[in-house]
Amino acid sequence: MNLKDIILDILFPRFCLGCGKEGGYICPSCSLYVSEALLICPVCFKESFSGETHPSCREKYGLDGLVSIWQYDGIIKEAIKNAEAGGAYDILRELTQKSFKIIATDPSRRFDDFLSFLSSGETLVSFVPMRKIKESKRGFNQSEVIAKELAKIIGRSCVSSLQKIKHTEDQASLKKEARLQNVKNCFSPIKNEIKNEPGSHEPGSSKKDIKNLKNVVLVDDVFTTGATMRECCRVLKQNGVQKVWAFSLAHPSN
Ligand SMILES: [Zn+2]
Ligand SMILES: [Zn+2]
Repeated sequence: MNLKDIILDILFPRFCLGCGKEGGYICPSCSLYVSEALLICPVCFKESFSGETHPSCREKYGLDGLVSIWQYDGIIKEAIKNAEAGGAYDILRELTQKSFKIIATDPSRRFDDFLSFLSSGETLVSFVPMRKIKESKRGFNQSEVIAKELAKIIGRSCVSSLQKIKHTEDQASLKKEARLQNVKNCFSPIKNEIKNEPGSHEPGSSKKDIKNLKNVVLVDDVFTTGATMRECCRVLKQNGVQKVWAFSLAHPSN
């Protein structure tokens, strides 16, 4: 732990959401009860060993794969909901770090495809945008917090590539079919405004046009029906991005 983390820990101690023990939001003994999810294809939701989209499920502007770490229930669900409600976005950072530990140490090597995508020199991290009004009420965008932490871990830039241009109904209140319709055409690319994060390893200019993005890891907190991620991916790919993998902390079990 660095000094800043030690000080923050003293000022704002973290308590386990499962048992109340001090030290972190999910203590080591409670994390034994957290279920990792099988990787699934982001189109048909059936199992896919590495999370890569099945060849038969591929679409022209569709996602190339999905990595979603946990089942969206129990402590994980509580942690994400807590972050949403209380603005404790360091919960999201802790979960992102934990998820990456799983990715990096999984003995089955199921994350190899995702890791090689991450290690490609052309890959940057981006996130599902949130409408400004909602963002300012809550103070932060969860998917951006996770994306920034992920970018930091892998030493890449986190870029804002999309903006939300249309009001949508809360996806949670809609049935699966209605969700795709709800998010249709509600995102547009950000052009000429993309800033690199300080500390990035990218040489050269600090601005990056979406047209120059090649590979994107698109981040959201939960992958539910995938409607939002798929729509974001369509806009990215129609604007020149070649490969998009989705990353989320959790998805509901089928
Ligand atoms: Zn605990
Ligand atoms: Zn499939």
